[in-house]
Amino acid sequence: MTDQVRVRFAPSPTGALHIGGAHTALFNWLWAKKMGGSFILRIEDTDRERSTRAFEQSILDGLRWMGLDWDEGPDVGGDFGPYRQAERLHLYKKYADELLDKGLAYKEGEAVLFRVPTGDVLHLSDKIYGEIEIKSEKASVNQDGSVKDIVLIKSDGMPAYNYAVVVDDHCMGITCVIRGEDHLANTPKQMLLYRALGLPMPEFAHLPMILGKDKKKLSKRHAATSVFDYNDLGYLSDGIFNFLALLGWSPGNDLEIFTREEAVRFFELSNVTKKAAVFDTDKLNHINQAHLKAMPSQKRLEAIRPFWVEMGLPVENFSDSYLEKALELMGGRGQTTKELAEFSDYFLSFEPVKERYDAKELTDETRETIRRFFTALFADTEWKADNLEAFARSWSEENSVPLKIIAMPLRWILTGRKVSPGVFEVTEALGKEECRKRITHYGLL
Ligand code: GLU
Repeated sequence: MTDQVRVRFAPSPTGALHIGGAHTALFNWLWAKKMGGSFILRIEDTDRERSTRAFEQSILDGLRWMGLDWDEGPDVGGDFGPYRQAERLHLYKKYADELLDKGLAYKEGEAVLFRVPTGDVLHLSDKIYGEIEIKSEKASVNQDGSVKDIVLIKSDGMPAYNYAVVVDDHCMGITCVIRGEDHLANTPKQMLLYRALGLPMPEFAHLPMILGKDKKKLSKRHAATSVFDYNDLGYLSDGIFNFLALLGWSPGNDLEIFTREEAVRFFELSNVTKKAAVFDTDKLNHINQAHLKAMPSQKRLEAIRPFWVEMGLPVENFSDSYLEKALELMGGRGQTTKELAEFSDYFLSFEPVKERYDAKELTDETRETIRRFFTALFADTEWKADNLEAFARSWSEENSVPLKIIAMPLRWILTGRKVSPGVFEVTEALGKEECRKRITHYGLL
């Protein structure tokens, strides 16, 4: 075969792409890109009961959402196919027959089992976990510690995982197996099979386990199950990518927020740690916010638009340039697309403002004061933030009214919120007529 790096992601299509799978896929993709190699997608669908084409599709969609493309796979084909295990049964039979012929395997009914040798020592040199030595008889054991022969072909004719993976990784020319730490215990079994078949072994790199903040293995309790749930929660694929890349690796040089290209540039398999990584939602939020802030305006608008639509806001009434401007004014507020959409709702509708603010806290005296102010403000023509602010400052000085007495209610009236971007910027962006409508609603004009 070639010297080219060939790595693979081998999901079982028994569920959507979850965080652990996305993490494994991402590290394989990074290594392939870094080395100018190939990233292969193999579908491990030997569990006929639980595997479905719908799950396979949702895994492919999830990988695409993450921005991870593959060079070979069930949809794009390639020279080493087929890329679904259920379509490779002839290969599993061929190699099992070989082991039967050599007397290294035996039949038990319809099943084929591999006889685990005793007295040998296996050396695993994992690129992340380092040197591991294990006695062959410890590679596959029963609960009580006794040697357990390895199933190659199950009685239903399907290959067992530890066997199929060896045949496939060999036949597909995989040079380095990068997968989760949960498979570390399986590796000696697979090594025994490579040896018995006389096949060269790929390199192995096991990725650290991902833990929840409570230091327990990551589960549904800690994280959304599928990567699409993150989209719905308001996370950007760039943010998730950046965050997952940091689980077990870092580019060094204090770089915490990075693009895919930067990750590829700095990635080194040898810098991946074996220390379990903690899934920290606060950190995810922080990273996501940075990506949201750095996005080009048009792209940001496209990310926010569906959330506004879902909130029932009349997005279609506004031009893209108005909406982009509104989001720019938000100046990095909001950790997620969902939050940003919520925080900026008043740019699209007065309805949520009315629900949040009733102006009840204004005393009659304040009402009188700000009514005078608004009347004067609306007589002034240039509806520009600078101009509006300068006017408000001089009016408050001339009338000995502290600026906040007029600015605070104005913010509430226009946004229904205590915090917002600069109130005069919001005033300008909404436009004179919309502001008039909102202020009049509260009887202050
Ligand atoms: N189908 C296995 C899994 O989803 C693949 C493990 C491996 O990469 O060898 O865990």
